[in-house]
Amino acid sequence: MIDYRRLRVALLGAGAVGSQVAGLLLKHRAELADRAGADLELVGIAVRDTTAPRDVELPQELFTTDAESLILGADIVIELMGGIEPARSNILQAINSGADIVTANKALLATHGPEIFDAADQVGASVYYEAAAAGAIPIIRPLRDSLAGDRVNRIMGIVNGTTNYILDRMDTEGVDFGDVLKQAQDLGYAEADPTADIEAYDAAQKAAILASLAFHTTVPLEAVHREGITSIDAAMIELARKADMVIKLLAVCERLTGTDDEGESISVRVYPALIHRSHPLASVHGANNAVFVEAEAAGSLMFYGAGAGGVQTASAVLGDVVSAARRHVAGGVGVGESTRANLPIVPIGRVTTRYHITLEVTDEAGVLATVASILSEGGVSVATVEQTVEPGDGTARLVIGTHTAQESDLSSTVEALAASAVVRRVVSVLRVEGD
Ligand code: NAP
Repeated sequence: MIDYRRLRVALLGAGAVGSQVAGLLLKHRAELADRAGADLELVGIAVRDTTAPRDVELPQELFTTDAESLILGADIVIELMGGIEPARSNILQAINSGADIVTANKALLATHGPEIFDAADQVGASVYYEAAAAGAIPIIRPLRDSLAGDRVNRIMGIVNGTTNYILDRMDTEGVDFGDVLKQAQDLGYAEADPTADIEAYDAAQKAAILASLAFHTTVPLEAVHREGITSIDAAMIELARKADMVIKLLAVCERLTGTDDEGESISVRVYPALIHRSHPLASVHGANNAVFVEAEAAGSLMFYGAGAGGVQTASAVLGDVVSAARRHVAGGVGVGESTRANLPIVPIGRVTTRYHITLEVTDEAGVLATVASILSEGGVSVATVEQTVEPGDGTARLVIGTHTAQESDLSSTVEALAASAVVRRVVSVLRVEGD
């Protein structure tokens, strides 16, 4: 056996992901040494409760509650505790004591990324986070390295498995939101408190990470427009189906080309949107994730797979550990994050997309003309109109497909429609993505 240089690896957290990472590090130690060019010695695992049962059988002597002592002297620190504190302080301590960092902590990176990357830059350390945006799916390295010579124009991601599972079951089985959420909780696809998923906080964190990388720009979480899926009902899913579309929770990161005076800007937003069934993202079923990238030279690329799961996510974490080890062996300073483009981030009102507006209107002569004139006055141009009449109750349903319109114009126009005497109810307004 080759006598490799030994690197000390400290693991913080042994939950769903951490326990799998520890198990694989121990099981494949010899093979990983050959790949990394260094022997990866797991020197300890910091947890809250050293006696708690683990998903994987691990040597009891590795466990400690003293993360700070464990970090001292480590070459690579893997942070898999989650949350902001003590993860943030532990990572900063590890960077300042000379370690490289591997983390899957999207919540931390989306809120304190610049602080952590700056600290790493100061001392020439590296921060690896392949598992933070889409679990097992390799997307960070493709954006950071493979596409480093290209210009990314747009990313559309299904980056939350729970919401994709819910929307997919609503689409394929006609189940209502509340029922499928309950089943998802029973099956363990959704947390007891599902807020982070269904209100799209989790997807917004991932969108901030992906957009920062793709556009070489610091994207604070507050700049990400966020809407969850709680307003999506069976009727909206059925309307989408009739239009040969499907509703997906999409993280959209887009480069906008403004006028010469304005220059380029970006938009980062997460919301449920309609996409045509022929789009590759429409075929992402169940709890799977996918990230669709459009780049100037490369064209369209799609990355697909498991966006979560302990052992699946451990694969991405271990890839980062091997990269960190190789860097240690090769020497030199780590390559920091590139945020030099620092493009302005536009508010949602400046974004342009197509829309589907569904209205319940009075079924009488002249209604269509009134609706058309409100839309035209609001600067919203109509592409398609479909009218169905509900038998007996004097109500008609209008489904209006618009040409591309600016969000601020669309919002004020929808308000004007809602206030009009001929409109009984605005049933839904959905954006259309992926044209
Ligand atoms: P988890 O199951 O909740 O495990 C968290 C672990 O951290 C536990 O072992 C816990 O110790 C330990 N811990 C928490 N607070 C601690 C503290 N103050 N001091 C010491 N140890 C502490 O979490 P997870 O699902 O493995 O997720 C870990 C990270 O990976 C998170 O950032 C998450 O967002 C990310 N991630 C997870 C997935 C996934 O599928 N689960 C996918 C992608 C990314 P005890 O066991 O003793 O309580």
